[in-house]
Amino acid sequence: MKKDPHNPNAIYEQLKTLTNAAGLPLVGSSASQEIKVRILPKNNVTPGKFKAHPTCPDTWFAHPQTILALRPDVFVLGENGLEDFELLCQCNICHQSFDRQFFILCPYCLKDLHP
Ligand SMILES: [Zn+2]
Repeated sequence: MKKDPHNPNAIYEQLKTLTNAAGLPLVGSSASQEIKVRILPKNNVTPGKFKAHPTCPDTWFAHPQTILALRPDVFVLGENGLEDFELLCQCNICHQSFDRQFFILCPYCLKDLHP
């Protein structure tokens, strides 16, 4: 793509490279309708669940074990965010239900998920 200073996408790409003092991206969502989701570890969140950050958009809390079990590409989601991705399945080891699309391991017992 040719660089055009008036192209909103090009401006957006420049903005994305800027970071604030905390080292976090200043721009959370992209022109390509994808949202970069940040998931922060928090021990009091139920494994397999996500809790929205009260003030930061596109930021969620999850149990460290949940984060370990997550698919590596889950941090980029579609515009509708986490809720619309639900595809519940049950672990055949611990019998807990969770959203299959998020995980490569069971978020409850960390058992490898085989299709
Ligand atoms: Zn399990």
